[in-house]
Amino acid sequence: MIITLKSNQNTPKRESLISWLKSQGMRVEISEGEHQTILGLIGDTSKIDTDLICSVDIVESVSRVSEPFKKASRKFHPDNTVVKVGSTRIGNGHFAVMAGPCSVENEAQVLTIARAVKAAGASLFRGGAYKPRTSPYAFQGLGKEGIDLLIKAKKETGMPIVTEIMDAAHLRFFDDVDMLQIGARNMQNFELLKQVAKVNKPVLLKRGMNSSIEEWLMSAEYLMSEGNPNVVLCERGIRTTDSKYTRNTLDLSAIPVVGKLSHLPIIVDPSHATGRRDLVESMSLGAIAVGSNGLQIEVHNQPEKALCDGAQSLAPEQFASLMTKARTFIQATGRELN
Ligand code: PEP
Ligand code: MN
Repeated sequence: MIITLKSNQNTPKRESLISWLKSQGMRVEISEGEHQTILGLIGDTSKIDTDLICSVDIVESVSRVSEPFKKASRKFHPDNTVVKVGSTRIGNGHFAVMAGPCSVENEAQVLTIARAVKAAGASLFRGGAYKPRTSPYAFQGLGKEGIDLLIKAKKETGMPIVTEIMDAAHLRFFDDVDMLQIGARNMQNFELLKQVAKVNKPVLLKRGMNSSIEEWLMSAEYLMSEGNPNVVLCERGIRTTDSKYTRNTLDLSAIPVVGKLSHLPIIVDPSHATGRRDLVESMSLGAIAVGSNGLQIEVHNQPEKALCDGAQSLAPEQFASLMTKARTFIQATGRELN
């Protein structure tokens, strides 16, 4: 349920309304917008009398919300959320590019790529230390050693780092990681979401490859209901009928749809969405055009030798050329590249 308060409300009356709502068993989410204040009620609102609330003189309107996600809903929080990762901002006109290898392989590889993506204008450095691989015989990532190499890259370049967490037991290795990534395969690992939410770090929540937009927003709700408001969504392609020509189908329509449903920033990963290096640039520009708040792009110094996802990884010079074009698109759409 959403209660919109009149502007210039009287503070004691507002406080007494909030305490009455709490006494009715409601959790009250307060959103102070520029022009209005909204109280979002979370809990069983079936016994709340909307007419009674409407009759309170500081109340402008009351409406019931049908969506199952509340804290992630734009109805509860009309203004765009901006998530800060180190000194980088994502959302509400702030555009961030996360770039780096699929997986951390060795020190020379990580540092070479980090320097190159930084020089081309990336705002965050990505790299997988714990890798979710379809085959147990494939390279599984360097684990903690991989995280240490990412931290080295961060110290050298100043870029905040984002890397995937697959198991809450590894959280102790993530102290110096700036943003935790929940991968597509773990989007509905609810225990992992609950544990990750307790750590006070921004989370990049990738869309599950078979997940609906509502399921994705419900996973964001898990993180938020456990106390973490700093969630960035990432569309990375979903399974549809054609897997012959592209690895997944990039659901670009999800960007404006989520933008209507939620205040959370949303970015696009064209690398996993297509699985093809030659499609990354056009899909990136398309993502900017439809309102994405950022991009996550795989870059490798020797894509043909990459231990993981080489076919979709850009060489550093291809990434630099993409960044030049992306800048024009970002400016043309009135946003600012971090
Ligand atoms: C990744 O970012 O390397 C990754 C495994 O992504 P996803 O979870 O989207 O497949
Ligand atoms: Mn990958």
